[in-house]
Amino acid sequence: MLLEKPVALVTGASRGIGRSIALQLARDGYTVIIHSRTAQDPSNPTKGPDEVKRAIEEQGGKAVLCASDIATPEGRSRLIDFVDREVGRVDLLVNNAGIEPVSVDILKVKEEDVRHVLDVNLIGPYFITQQITSRMIQWRAAGIIQKGRVVFITSVQAYRTATFGSGYGMSKAALHMAVQQFAARLGEADIPVVEIRPGVIPTDMSLVHKEGIDRKLAEGWAPTRRWGSLEEMANMVSCVGKGVFDYSTGAAIDVSGGMNIFKL
Ligand code: NDP
Repeated sequence: MLLEKPVALVTGASRGIGRSIALQLARDGYTVIIHSRTAQDPSNPTKGPDEVKRAIEEQGGKAVLCASDIATPEGRSRLIDFVDREVGRVDLLVNNAGIEPVSVDILKVKEEDVRHVLDVNLIGPYFITQQITSRMIQWRAAGIIQKGRVVFITSVQAYRTATFGSGYGMSKAALHMAVQQFAARLGEADIPVVEIRPGVIPTDMSLVHKEGIDRKLAEGWAPTRRWGSLEEMANMVSCVGKGVFDYSTGAAIDVSGGMNIFKL
């Protein structure tokens, strides 16, 4: 059990935004549970959960690994059992894991593809949050944690429309409502729940569309006309972890260079 230090559970922490969040939270003093769908690929030790753990340890921090698929009830149970058995507390839950579906027209997309993206991006974080926050209330009553906090990483696609790969936007818009619902339910338990909406951040997910994104940014897609950075995302989550947004439960905060501004 790692009871001596606050623990952050970061889903999808093996790369991309989750990796940068995990490294920052470790610098902030959290022991980090690096959660991902797949375990380390031994043929590529330079990337994946082991690399993130090593990077955290090199900065003097502590991390543990857990791999499971949040899209399935079994995968979610594996993660929750790991927390119960190996860790015994979570002070900060960061629901970051997500996928982008294949870019198919809304008039042609297959049901199984829409269901899968909803399972990963919506059902997964919804039930992980249910399980972890129920425990946060008990851990706090038992004096194991001082306070619980929850972050959801959604997207500007929670409110901006795309007709290709539309399951993604549906999953993020529904997650926005789940944030409101959990914030409303957990207010009396003093557990803040905050939504962070990235615009475009350079990761495996977004860089496959680099050319198109660069073109749209140059045309004024976001008023700042630039990509956001991994650090800008990690800093925002760090602020939540430090309690900066404790009185802002239910808030949706854009890290999107102004994509949230509706222009005439
Ligand atoms: P990446 O594709 O770089 O990383 C995705 C992470 O999620 C990986 O750690 C991956 O694990 C994990 N993951 C994927 N599916 C599952 C699953 N079924 N169960 C458990 N873990 C899973 O994505 P980003 O870092 O770009 O995205 C992180 C979040 O930010 C996502 O929710 C995304 O929707 C959101 N976002 C990103 C934007 C961007 O511009 N990058 C813009 C807007 C929102 P593994 O390595 O094992 O596959």
